[in-house]
Amino acid sequence: MRVRFGVGAVSELRDELAALGFHRSLVLSTQAEAPLAARIAGGLGDGAVGVSGTAVMHVPQKCVDATIEMLSRRSPDSLVPVGGGSAVGLAKAVALETGLPIVAVPTTYAGSEMTPIWGRTSAGVKQTGRDLRVLPRSVIYDPDLTLTLPALVSGVSGINAIAHAVEALYAPDSSPIISSMAVVGTRSLADALPRIVSNPLDLGARTQAFRGAWLCGACLGNVTMSLHHKLCHALGGAFDLPHAEMHAVVLPYVVAFNASAAPAAMLQLADALGEPEPATALWKLGRSVGAPASLGELGLTETDLDHAAALAVASPYANPVPVTERAVRKLLGAALQGTAPACVL
Ligand code: NAD
Repeated sequence: MRVRFGVGAVSELRDELAALGFHRSLVLSTQAEAPLAARIAGGLGDGAVGVSGTAVMHVPQKCVDATIEMLSRRSPDSLVPVGGGSAVGLAKAVALETGLPIVAVPTTYAGSEMTPIWGRTSAGVKQTGRDLRVLPRSVIYDPDLTLTLPALVSGVSGINAIAHAVEALYAPDSSPIISSMAVVGTRSLADALPRIVSNPLDLGARTQAFRGAWLCGACLGNVTMSLHHKLCHALGGAFDLPHAEMHAVVLPYVVAFNASAAPAAMLQLADALGEPEPATALWKLGRSVGAPASLGELGLTETDLDHAAALAVASPYANPVPVTERAVRKLLGAALQGTAPACVL
């Protein structure tokens, strides 16, 4: 994949599309980001065939169908999602069905633009898969576009990216190169996020965070994820919890749970976070960026926990510590309350 990175890089979008042979792009965004998407489409002149501001979290199939219906009237040769994982996710689901190539302009730290992972939701069930057809052909990272991302969204979105790196460090198919990317990505974000929260207009911190998000997203795209991602997928699908906030709450507990069986990963993580105890460091990072402290704050209740734990172990997957329903139930109990993560060790 190609990447253009830097302040003002979005002004190179038209050239980038032309270099790839694309001259009729449909620009996609959420409703909230539609003005930005329209501005970017305006910069493409007759290279844009329209803007669709209908993307929403978890990619409902009806949004995919409506966008595909729009394609038949506009005949684009490419899709340009502008925004976070919701906009990129809509483009991927459309690409999966139509084969249209994607050039992504991310504006959050979720990292979806770096992965061949697609998802879509139909009748309350979120389906995901990997397919190289949905991997963007090029990504334009312009830190200027993230200056408007609210402090809280920035913080939880950045911790969502760190979660990709954490699970890459103990992935069964990891490699020294992926681990190096995970360490640098985590270090960049852990350093930049508190600075962004204290000054959302700090362009240096925004640039550093975007670089971290790029690296962490690439980790997600290249190796197998474990308990943390399976758990968040189950919680998001069954209880519709907000994606990035949920990742920010759950991550320290999964790290505490896995720590004893992944000593090398924990050493690398401690190095990246600049603290000896990674679970506690991640928990403190969440507090320092104002992330919700518990799943209870996100709307989960005690009565949901058995169902959530059952879903999280429904199909087998690799994880440093073997995953049992009882252990996941205990982990979720701690995350529900927001008690210190050491309690799940
Ligand atoms: P999002 O795309 O829904 O964005 C969060 C909110 O921030 C939205 O309201 C959006 O309009 C707003 N926003 C985005 N950019 C902004 C900006 N620059 N300024 C102001 N507001 C802005 O959320 P997200 O956390 O980026 O993505 C979450 C979704 O992405 C989930 O559905 C998740 O499953 C998916 N995801 C997929 C992958 C993958 O590899 N397939 C990876 C990570 C996340």
